[in-house]
Amino acid sequence: MSQEGQTVRAHCPRCDGERNCLIRAEATNEEGNDIFEWTVKARIVSCAGCDYSFCMSVSDERTNYEYLDKEAGEYRNHPPDVAFLPPTIWRKTPVWLSVLTYTSEDKNLHLFGIMTEVYEALNARLDTLAAIGIRTSFEVVAEILGAPDINFQKKIRWLVDNKAGLLTSEEEAFRTLVEAGNAAAHRGWRPKPEVIDALMDLLEGLVRRDIVDDIIRVVEDAQNEHEASSRADRVVQHSPSIPRRVFRSNIVRLPLKADPPAGGDTPPDPDITGSPEG
Ligand SMILES: [Zn+2]
Repeated sequence: MSQEGQTVRAHCPRCDGERNCLIRAEATNEEGNDIFEWTVKARIVSCAGCDYSFCMSVSDERTNYEYLDKEAGEYRNHPPDVAFLPPTIWRKTPVWLSVLTYTSEDKNLHLFGIMTEVYEALNARLDTLAAIGIRTSFEVVAEILGAPDINFQKKIRWLVDNKAGLLTSEEEAFRTLVEAGNAAAHRGWRPKPEVIDALMDLLEGLVRRDIVDDIIRVVEDAQNEHEASSRADRVVQHSPSIPRRVFRSNIVRLPLKADPPAGGDTPPDPDITGSPEG
């Protein structure tokens, strides 16, 4: 039965939180294959907080098939899968990430591309792929910071020893970040969201501090230089139209100094002894 006109709890993309939402329209699709049957309810809902309208789909199994819920220790039906359009953002791409594209450095653009994919993976809750992407991002960061082509563990040591970006207090955390990527890539490990969040905090902190802030400084210096030179140029352009005071016509002849200092003849200052003009 349609729930049109009723209120549901849903994640509002604009408020970025759970809100009461009015179901404005709802249609149900019956779907299935040889084994399972399920329904997909497609809804247009409006947030009761900010009035933003968005789409919501609820996919619910009709097959009475129970799964062992290991955490609860009992058999249960599969919970409905809920999805939104625009999709729920689990981790916002920081505004400063685009600073990596301000320079034409290939390595910075490469890092921007990989990190963009990591955010896409995180927002699709592809956490295993995100963990691998985080490790790969760190590999590119290490390269940008000048680390030689050696294995990861040695790279981390090199970055700390050469004060090339990593602080001694961060060494262990970055070893864990690399290990998490390896476990996801080679040992089928699926990290929990809170672990992924901590790894992302670490990676973002490093990129912001050691790469993005440097680029911002270089761009600002270039901008200041450009603005200063354009201010100076404007004054020089107006220079011919500014009337000049003719200083030389007011110069008077001063009496020669009676006693030149010992040690030779000091040539008279041409500016004050020259002949007046005009
Ligand atoms: Zn809202």
